[in-house]
Amino acid sequence: MNPPTGTPTGTPAGVPACGGLASPRRPLLNRSLDGLGTTIFAEMSALAAATGAINLGQGFPDTDGPEAVREAAVRALRDGRGNQYPPGAGVPELRAAICAHQRRFYGLEFDPDTEVLVTAGATEGIAAAMLALLEPGDEVIAFEPFYDSYAASIAMAGGVRVPLALRAPDFRPDLDALRAAITRRTRLLLLNSPHNPTGTVLTRDELTAIAALAVERDLLVVTDEVYEHLVFDDGAHIPLISLPGMRDRTVSISSAGKTFSFTGWKVGWVTGSAELVSAVRTTKQFLTYVASGPFQYAVAEALALPDAYYAAFRDDLQTKRDLLTAGLTAAGFEVYRPQGTYFITTDIAPLGETDALTFCRTLPQRSGVVAVPNSVFYDHPTAGRTQVRFAFCKREDVLKEAASRLRTTFDR
Ligand SMILES: *Cc1c(COP(=O)(O)O)cnc(C)c1O
Repeated sequence: MNPPTGTPTGTPAGVPACGGLASPRRPLLNRSLDGLGTTIFAEMSALAAATGAINLGQGFPDTDGPEAVREAAVRALRDGRGNQYPPGAGVPELRAAICAHQRRFYGLEFDPDTEVLVTAGATEGIAAAMLALLEPGDEVIAFEPFYDSYAASIAMAGGVRVPLALRAPDFRPDLDALRAAITRRTRLLLLNSPHNPTGTVLTRDELTAIAALAVERDLLVVTDEVYEHLVFDDGAHIPLISLPGMRDRTVSISSAGKTFSFTGWKVGWVTGSAELVSAVRTTKQFLTYVASGPFQYAVAEALALPDAYYAAFRDDLQTKRDLLTAGLTAAGFEVYRPQGTYFITTDIAPLGETDALTFCRTLPQRSGVVAVPNSVFYDHPTAGRTQVRFAFCKREDVLKEAASRLRTTFDR
């Protein structure tokens, strides 16, 4: 017979006592979150701090964004704007600025009162969307390698993730495989373009094919577009929601963190039909309710920066991409040149290395550089086993120093 709950009955061998918080046989962490542990970014940033190595692991800039935007945040704080709970959907100034941004860059029209929701970064937008739209057992198709919060958000919502592999060297989506992956249980596609970590930017043809499938199979799509302003060369970011049939089935998510180099402010947004945004707002209310009050006013000003800001930001990061691409190539890595984002995926096999996780755990000692193993972003245990990601959103002297250290270690 089972003992009544809350009555500890002793601890079986090998299972630590846990103070009566739970039955001793059951792990404390919800088992649907098994394997999620500590994010690899936290592990690698801690390693960078402990060793003093150059951190090209976690993707945050080492230079803050525009001074005028920082000053706008200071002004909001001083003027008492946003210091108390802002409106649940976000402050009106920011919602208006998000609509103006979508119109300026993509010709998209949204109603600031019903079709826009401000979130605590894109991360909360993604989590709230999964919690709102999924029921237990619903399948979510997402590109593999995954940005690591996807697996957690899908699991917390009771969903089942279905990986769609992007394979080296081109990392293009296999649209036949996508079609084949759709089942009766598929509820939504979770799309990230520009894609972290591979740097893939979906083309209009690929997006058109994905949109046609979504319409044909009546799927919802959640798009993570946080790198929308980091598309290099002659490429362009095309929001999936702008394609025929997608306006009422797409939850489009973006954020100020990457575009304005203030990743700590955590101001993100969701745009879509009133029905979808209302569903996401329902779960978002009970996650944070609201966040980042004064920063919302500053981001409203940031979004209104002239086109020249956005162009200079992209050009700066493109120069850095080229610099680190050259450095990693010279050190002997196979480099997959990204079309967007601020990451470079490499392969360490040409260096005689066989395991990205081991490589990244020892790299700070060997070279004084921190990187992130892409292998942790795959469900398939052997896929990406020798892929390593480097962030290039750092000062040029830092990138040059990192490249020179890697070259000293590996170029023999
Ligand atoms: C950085 C990042 C996010 C998180 O954005 P926040 O606004 O900081 O929450 C989401 N998706 C991808 C792909 C990212 O790289």
